Amino acid sequence: MKLCRFDGNRLGVAEGDMLRDVTPVTEALPSLRWPLPPGDLLIAHLPALLPRIAALAPSAPTVPLSSVRIESPVANPNKIIAAPVNYWKHIEESRADAGINYGSDVKAIDHYGLFLKANSSLNGPSAEVPIARPERRTDHEIELAVVIGSGGYRIPEASALEHVAGYAIGLDMTIRGTEDRSYRKSLDGFTVLGPWLVTPDEVPDPDNLDFRLRVGNETRQESNTKHLIFGVRKLIAYASEAYTLYPGDIILTGTPEGVGPVKPGDVMHCWVERIGEMTVGVRAA
Ligand code: MN
Repeated sequence: MKLCRFDGNRLGVAEGDMLRDVTPVTEALPSLRWPLPPGDLLIAHLPALLPRIAALAPSAPTVPLSSVRIESPVANPNKIIAAPVNYWKHIEESRADAGINYGSDVKAIDHYGLFLKANSSLNGPSAEVPIARPERRTDHEIELAVVIGSGGYRIPEASALEHVAGYAIGLDMTIRGTEDRSYRKSLDGFTVLGPWLVTPDEVPDPDNLDFRLRVGNETRQESNTKHLIFGVRKLIAYASEAYTLYPGDIILTGTPEGVGPVKPGDVMHCWVERIGEMTVGVRAA
């Protein structure tokens, strides 16, 4: 199932070029008072909601996908976790390009661990990415995004996929420079998640998915998640050794070679096998 948040917190099931509007199921979510529990309420209750969504969808009203504003399928993550330099060919290009490495010696993920992006950087694909520092190089990084369902601490690699609510396409937008990753990658709009959450039954092996990013007609990034240095299971285990994971936590798994700059007016066409496509514009801030 492909679960899409759209038009101001409506919930849809994507079918071809349309959405089935199943928003009424969200009325079953508990109404809460301060202090809120950590994590995303919809994702936390997804196991109970999915049968209701499946029952409602066939008779739910349809909306053309082209007519809606698509939002991030996770509204309120507890955190956005990201993997640095998790593809060998991206390490090689980073070592070769001073515009990426800024004089630092680029190592692999096991040297750096993980990093966190500000939740305020999260947007859906219909919001254009603002170029807030036009004097700096702002790069696209397409990544497979994993959304955690049931949380946990010290999750074993062997059972890691049982903790996945679904998969989405992620964009880890980045200013190149000397500052910490959490600064350069956390500007408003610098994390794009979409176009929907695909449940794991539709993604039997997250470590073997083709994906691609075009800017306009130019293919910039094209790879497969089988080239990840730390695959999805290992990333979940590794992250949960440091942080307790909560429902709705987002793990950006890392980007392959082909990163490059974008400018206002550019359009990024992102595709991941079994997930689908999302188109994301770029604008001046
Ligand atoms: Mn990245």
